Amino acid sequence: MPFCSHCGKQVEARDVYCAQCGARQPVDAPPADPFTRVSPRTASICCYIPGLGWVACVIVLAAQRFKQDRTVRFHAFQGLYLFLAWLLNDWVLGPATARVPHFPIHGLVGAALLIMSIFMMVKAAHNEAYSLPLFGELAERSLSEQ
Ligand SMILES: [Zn+2]
Repeated sequence: MPFCSHCGKQVEARDVYCAQCGARQPVDAPPADPFTRVSPRTASICCYIPGLGWVACVIVLAAQRFKQDRTVRFHAFQGLYLFLAWLLNDWVLGPATARVPHFPIHGLVGAALLIMSIFMMVKAAHNEAYSLPLFGELAERSLSEQ
């Protein structure tokens, strides 16, 4: 039960004015940012969801709430670069090597990227800003360019 900010008498939580002294009560502003309830850890994990993580990355990088959170932004950039690599693998490397027999590079790269994504989801779940080779360096560079 809250108390009047002016006279200290008990007021109802939804009261705008105090029944005793009539002073206006401070109202809790509704959260302007829809990500207020999302923890940095959850946001970081979402950045690595295979196939869908890039959506979380874009949202995190645009969110006002994470503007100052270097760790979450690092995960977002690293997740984006992993997704870009996945796209390149599917669109460029896959078709380019499809006719080469006994050369399953497309499948191997795809599996490696999938393993890295799952590995990073585990790392993010443990609040570790693990830096993957190449992807981590690209993410660091993107962070410092801002
Ligand atoms: Zn009052």
